[in-house]
Amino acid sequence: MSIAINKEKCVGCKKCFSVCPGSLIQEDENGKAYVKYPKDCWGCCSCVKECKVKAISLYLGADIGGRGSQMTVETKKDNVNHKQIMHWEITESDKTVHAIDINPKSSNQY
Ligand code: SF4
Ligand code: SF4
Repeated sequence: MSIAINKEKCVGCKKCFSVCPGSLIQEDENGKAYVKYPKDCWGCCSCVKECKVKAISLYLGADIGGRGSQMTVETKKDNVNHKQIMHWEITESDKTVHAIDINPKSSNQY
């Protein structure tokens, strides 16, 4: 499985259901999200970016040097310029956190 869903954080908004290209995320008996077909998840990150409460994290496996760390992302305003940024956080298995801030308007420009 490529993602983990923290059910304590999940507020049952269902936004991740519709963005998953494989329709892999569904609602459990308590109205929370769960991955019904975890083996089919290819780690596209759409659900991770869509979840506004950071309930979904992406596993960074050993094959990409992640050693079991988990990655989350949130969109927010930076403290200096008050421009919208994507704030990525990688939490290693020893709880060390690395943060990366990206301006989505200046990224992906070719
Ligand atoms: S987007 Fe996040 S809060 Fe909404 S249902 Fe999915 S996991 Fe829960
Ligand atoms: S990472 Fe992509 S494929 Fe996997 S559950 Fe999330 S949206 Fe679906």
